[in-house]
Amino acid sequence: IPEYAFIGRSNVGKSSLINMLTDRKSLAKTSGRPGKTQLINHFIINEEWYLVDLPGYGYARVSKTSKKKFQKFITNYFEQRQQLVSAFVLVDIRHKPQPIDLEFMQYLGENGIPFGIVFTKADKLKPNAIDNHVDDYCKELLKTWEEIPPYFITSSSKKIGQDDVLDFINNTNEEIEALKNQ
Ligand code: GDP
Repeated sequence: IPEYAFIGRSNVGKSSLINMLTDRKSLAKTSGRPGKTQLINHFIINEEWYLVDLPGYGYARVSKTSKKKFQKFITNYFEQRQQLVSAFVLVDIRHKPQPIDLEFMQYLGENGIPFGIVFTKADKLKPNAIDNHVDDYCKELLKTWEEIPPYFITSSSKKIGQDDVLDFINNTNEEIEALKNQ
């Protein structure tokens, strides 16, 4: 079964996004407190694909050892996942490109792991500000990448972008099926 992994800094809105995508409020727990989703959670969607909820990274108040442990944990996941089709890196649309996110995308790229970017909390910006922030982000990416990865503008509180993400995943799954049956 194809698998899609969701990851981002703590508090980026990952749990809320997962709740929106799965339409089940109780599925992933949200919290106002950073760093609460500690372990990997798998959700099976329509018996067609796995949504993988990876722990949030980059919260400030953790020791160096636990940061190392966490890195190991994440890299183990990415090295072992045969079924992983794509990762989704979540970034808060209000923020300028953050080194920790860019480094993480770099890591994915170097390891040949396809990824998309999910901009979260789009309800917090006006439409023209959204465009500007996305443009800035793309410009930053083009400094190191040849192409812009697929990206999605979402708001879990206003239910924006749900279909864009799900359509992308469903279309990708159909392509995979079609290739299999060739
Ligand atoms: P996680 O730590 O990445 O899983 O983030 P959560 O989903 O728990 O959200 C962190 C905080 O951001 C919570 O206070 C949420 O209510 C808030 N939040 C999440 N998504 C949105 C959104 O789309 N719009 C707004 N305005 N707030 C959001």
